[in-house]
Amino acid sequence: MSLRIPIETSARHVHICEEDFKILFGENAALHYVHELSQPGQYLCQERVTIVGPRGRFENVAILGPYRKETQIELSMTDTRKIGVPGIIRQSGYTEGTPGCRLIGPNGTIEIDKGVIVAKRHIHMTPLEASRAHVKDNDEVFVITESYERGLIFADVVVRVSPKFKLAMHVDTDEANAFGSEDAPTGAILKLFDGQTYSLQQWADEIQSGINR
Ligand SMILES: [Zn+2]
Repeated sequence: MSLRIPIETSARHVHICEEDFKILFGENAALHYVHELSQPGQYLCQERVTIVGPRGRFENVAILGPYRKETQIELSMTDTRKIGVPGIIRQSGYTEGTPGCRLIGPNGTIEIDKGVIVAKRHIHMTPLEASRAHVKDNDEVFVITESYERGLIFADVVVRVSPKFKLAMHVDTDEANAFGSEDAPTGAILKLFDGQTYSLQQWADEIQSGINR
């Protein structure tokens, strides 16, 4: 069966480790809860930071709690251009080889040498939903969006499976704008190649050399 997957847009935000937070906000500071996000346990915080790159800055950037082991900044590709850092697409937590930036808080400043990523688009789902959709953790799938006069098929969408997750696809602001996202957009996994994971790059190369599957 196919799942109707809510598509949620992540604006630029920061996940922060406790040590970095204390430098930016003070030794006695704490994260202040504003509201819950779609994934259980994740929440928006009151605290905001400034992100500075070689060519620009963003002020008032949201921090998402709880603390992470490592500080990570998630930007759209457009955002990375504006502040002048390379846009490196990564799954959350895989920050090796990514650019750093400066973070400024009310109490201090830090330079991080890595951690700025453009989040790879992904779907959160439970094991039950994964088995219904015939996918498993770390599969890459195609997702066809509900059309707002500019519908899209997204390729290279990573499936993340955990009993702690709630069904949602996460895209950034560039990706949401690309399909003309409106209120509460949805998508469905598109079964191409008999439902097998297939490299979009290989498919594109094949079509351009006249091979049609
Ligand atoms: Zn997510």
